[in-house]
Amino acid sequence: MTATIIDGKAFAATVRARVATHVAALKSDHDLTPGLAVVLVGEDPASQVYVRNKGKQTAEAGMASFEHKLDVATSQKDILSLVDQLNADPEVHGILVQLPLPDHVDSAEVINRISPAKDVDGFHISNVGLLGTGQKSMVPCTPLGCLMMLRDHHGSLSGLNAVVVGRSNIVGKPMAQLLLGESCTVTIAHSRTKDLADVCRGADILVAAVGRPEMVPGDWVKPGATVIDVGVNRIPHPEKPGKTKLVGDVDFASASAVAGAITPVPGGVGPMTIACLLANTVTACCRANGLPEPEGLTA
Ligand code: NDP
Repeated sequence: MTATIIDGKAFAATVRARVATHVAALKSDHDLTPGLAVVLVGEDPASQVYVRNKGKQTAEAGMASFEHKLDVATSQKDILSLVDQLNADPEVHGILVQLPLPDHVDSAEVINRISPAKDVDGFHISNVGLLGTGQKSMVPCTPLGCLMMLRDHHGSLSGLNAVVVGRSNIVGKPMAQLLLGESCTVTIAHSRTKDLADVCRGADILVAAVGRPEMVPGDWVKPGATVIDVGVNRIPHPEKPGKTKLVGDVDFASASAVAGAITPVPGGVGPMTIACLLANTVTACCRANGLPEPEGLTA
């Protein structure tokens, strides 16, 4: 079997187009412009790239983008007071504090200071609790992107066996909650799981969110399964000395020979993450103004 490639790049473009359509309607019908504020503390190069891309895509979707770049030595108190200011700003519908924060900052306190209604990353403890109890919440962007791709590919996910490898708060756990919400039978695997290969072989939907290059080989994949590879790992390029290459947590060559469908790395889950951040900002704007949930952008 040769798997269907789930093209996250193309699907993310579709989601961004939906976002842009909603944004245009909010402007014309309600004189509203969804606004996203991004806070970056310090000069971590990877974070700077993410923040630049977020700002660019926010503007391209017709939304307002507010960037706050703070010195690495900014105190906890000053970061919290910026969050308070953004919470109170009616032009800001979504707030994202780029992680990781410098070591002297208590990240949990900062994240939990964001108004839950503006917490477009879905990391605030209230949103975690709402998602865990099946209530309307802001959903973390990466798992939301995975869910959108799965729904698009499968339609109903009800009754399918889903295995999520990884139990992090930002990917594994919320992914498992979302799949449970779709009535999948969900197993969460992690570094202490016994017989991981056997657990994976039972999956109709296999989500790998581990951070270990090409850890999941094709013979862990059930024939015909759908494989969502969240991993982003940079390894030495096998053919180009001195260069690197991005790979996922799944061995694409062997897995794509067995799976029914698979996301590639790059070009799978990655592009969906920022698209879902824009989607969450539109959702937050609609909710803040008592408008209906934007179609096709929520969990
Ligand atoms: P974390 O490091 O927070 O979590 C990794 C999880 O994998 C842990 O639960 C860990 O288990 C588990 N794990 C580690 N080793 C093994 C193993 N040998 N067997 C089984 N499970 C194992 O990572 P994240 O969840 O933040 O990210 C996971 C991957 O997804 C990374 O590659 C990251 O770069 C990528 N990512 C991609 C995004 C995107 O936009 N595409 C966004 C976010 C992340 P335990 O808890 O027992 O230690």
